[in-house]
Amino acid sequence: MENHFEKGNLSINSENILPIIKKWLYSDADIFVRELVSNAADAITKLGRLDSLGEANLPEDEAFAIKIVLDKEARTIKFVDNGVGMTADEIKKYINQIAFSGATDFMNRYKEKMDAESEIIGHFGLGFYSAFMVADKVEIDSLSYRPEAEAAHWLCDGGIEFEISAGSRDTRGTTVTLHIGDDGEEFLDDYTLRRIVKKYCGFIPVEIYFENAAAKTNDKEPINDKNPLWLKKASDCTDEEYKKFYHQVFMDFNEPLFWIHLNMDYPFRLKGILYFPRLKHELESIEGQVKLFSSQVFVADNIKEVIPEFLLLLKGVMDCPDLPLNVSRSFLQNDGYVEKLSGYIVRKVADKLVSLSQNEREEYNKYWDDINQFIKYGCVREADFYEKCRDAVLYKSTKGEFYTLSEYLERNEDKIGKKVIYANSAKRQSQYIRMFEEQGVDVILLTTRLDAPFTTHVEALEEGVAFARIDSELSEIMKGEDTEKDKKAHEGLIAIFKEAIGNKNLAIEVQNFKNETTPAMIFLSEESRRVQEISKVYGMKIGKGKTDEKLVLNGANELVKLLDAGNLDVDDAKVICEHIWDMASLSHGHLSPERMEKFIERNSLILREFVR
Ligand code: ADP
Repeated sequence: MENHFEKGNLSINSENILPIIKKWLYSDADIFVRELVSNAADAITKLGRLDSLGEANLPEDEAFAIKIVLDKEARTIKFVDNGVGMTADEIKKYINQIAFSGATDFMNRYKEKMDAESEIIGHFGLGFYSAFMVADKVEIDSLSYRPEAEAAHWLCDGGIEFEISAGSRDTRGTTVTLHIGDDGEEFLDDYTLRRIVKKYCGFIPVEIYFENAAAKTNDKEPINDKNPLWLKKASDCTDEEYKKFYHQVFMDFNEPLFWIHLNMDYPFRLKGILYFPRLKHELESIEGQVKLFSSQVFVADNIKEVIPEFLLLLKGVMDCPDLPLNVSRSFLQNDGYVEKLSGYIVRKVADKLVSLSQNEREEYNKYWDDINQFIKYGCVREADFYEKCRDAVLYKSTKGEFYTLSEYLERNEDKIGKKVIYANSAKRQSQYIRMFEEQGVDVILLTTRLDAPFTTHVEALEEGVAFARIDSELSEIMKGEDTEKDKKAHEGLIAIFKEAIGNKNLAIEVQNFKNETTPAMIFLSEESRRVQEISKVYGMKIGKGKTDEKLVLNGANELVKLLDAGNLDVDDAKVICEHIWDMASLSHGHLSPERMEKFIERNSLILREFVR
């Protein structure tokens, strides 16, 4: 070294670059751990490469490792590696100039956009300076691997001045010492620091050991796993390994249902595992977690700019080493990268679902309750997804059977054409369901909020297919003989009814049902109901009289016949009409509180008559 002791200015224009870095560059202060450990791991990887080129002459049993030493009393955190190390000149070049030119570049490009929204997820070759987010003072002690190298020491207290002098490190590698300031207080905690190391560096390719100097504890086991499962070939992984990895990464001690191992080399590299989680409760909405890594370093959870949104319902890890992390999220979105990534994953996921549904149908049926929301969401969000996994979409019947659309149509088409009859509630709509089942028609259950957009989507893509709720019309197959011909003859009955229930506007019809026990049912066309539901969602008001709700009286029912004959006492007829109307309303939807009260009163009246 020419100068034994050197003082200088960091080569930047701005006087206050560090405060800016602190404030704007990273949203999470804990990122310094990721940056410093990554630098250490890079230094080790570089040395390994030099060695394999015959340029470093390391012993056979060289043990590469990173050590993180927390000293709460001294208020320091040290990152120690045995990688390439740096000479004083290299420190000047890489730390002072390059890093700061990165900072200047960053400043220039983002000057205008420096507001809280411009989130930057990567680094501009200034990761090292993230240390100042938590430290007042940073030291570097380094000894280069080069044969004649001298140890160097660098010190910077967060201003724009640095000091470089001869160092004392006597083994190859670099020690970065952070003197933690008030901003970094929380990181002086053993548990917190370990947690952060695990979060970002839990899978990096170099062993990390944790040492607590104040407590005098020194881990024997590395804190990370340097060969994460996603890097292995799928054919070399056992089910046990996949499950263990899932428990370990997601802290979810339910077994995953199944998983997909992703592995792609072109047009970009991607490795990962996507798990289909088991839901804890039947109606639980799914909440996934997809962890994004770049060359085994954790970047963030659930980055929707990079990972197709519907996949965020799954749990998984994805390692995308080609991901340009030094750009803003909005750039990523427009990069075309996401599109390619999405295209690939959509295909892999659909392939897996189709193969399971074809080869392991019994098992697949059992998964359906857990995965149906994911699949439906995917179909609605991703144009290609439905096309690709159409045959893996199942419909669950009220009897607990599972059919694909083709299977359903095949079973029912001769009776109801290309309609798919569905119910939202097996209990509430049981009366309607029973009437269809009596005619040998399968009724499917659609119970989630996603079903409405999903079925609309299917209707748009499947020629002629129409979903019809069970109470949308009196299906032809439920109608008995006759009916239409003596319409006129029922006018008296309809008038009695309108009078009794005090609703002149209600549409009433008389039809003979095949089933004789039900006196009446209410129908509302599929179309009107959907309009009503949509307007409810958007808070629009629909004119009350405009609904095409219809009460259909069953001409084959004994009570209706009695009323129709016209020789009942007026008061008795009124009670019967009101009661039929209330019962039909009950199984169609619900009664208003006032009607419910009257309904109960009337019930006890009828019971009293009955015992008399
Ligand atoms: P980046 O890692 O993006 O290049 P940094 O500011 O983190 O930016 O680091 C700048 C440079 O300093 C690195 O590229 C590397 O050459 C050098 N460096 C940083 N940390 C170490 C280390 N622990 N050992 C050897 N060299 C290092």
